[in-house]
Amino acid sequence: MNLILFGPPAAGKGTQAKKLVAERGFIQLSTGDMLRAARSSGSELGKRVAAIMDSGSLVSDEIVIALIEEQLDQNPKAAGFIFDGFPRTTPQAKALDDSLAGRGQMVDAVIRLKVDEAALIDRVTKRFEAEGRADDNPEAFKKRLIAYNTQTAPLVEVYMGQGKLAEIDGMASVDTVSSSIASILDNAQAKKAK
Ligand code: AMP
Repeated sequence: MNLILFGPPAAGKGTQAKKLVAERGFIQLSTGDMLRAARSSGSELGKRVAAIMDSGSLVSDEIVIALIEEQLDQNPKAAGFIFDGFPRTTPQAKALDDSLAGRGQMVDAVIRLKVDEAALIDRVTKRFEAEGRADDNPEAFKKRLIAYNTQTAPLVEVYMGQGKLAEIDGMASVDTVSSSIASILDNAQAKKAK
């Protein structure tokens, strides 16, 4: 089962992905987490992406696609993958389709967390105060929202056209969002088993 959690930064994708890991044994593939890990390890890759990430821009497709490929290769027997923060551009979506097809798999479901931008800014301001992530500062966050709206949001139409998109209210409580996700996944799993 391959699920994409879709939505703007700070929509709650990471929180929901972590619940699915705990409850269903899926593997969370968060390119943001992978890039942050590369930075804290001090690797060459980490050094290359640091300034781009802090500014709120997207790092190159080539880099994130390679990170995802590596994880797919390392986990051939996974019960499922949750793609969190990936794909974010049309070439990334195409690379994911090709990569999964090469493994006899596909994207099974795409769940979009719909949120209100003003509420997101409020959420991120609090996160910035609590955690101090450089790219949560108001200027960088604005840039991340622009990147989402221009480069990522067009994928909604693509997945809708493929009949894979389910939309839920991301402003509801964490538990309400996770039970909506659970029922969408149960349906997708039942469809897959047919
Ligand atoms: P996130 O934690 O998913 O919001 O990602 C934090 C930052 O990492 C983003 O603002 C981008 O700079 C970079 N990043 C994460 N995932 C991707 C991706 N799929 N494509 C390009 N850049 C990404």
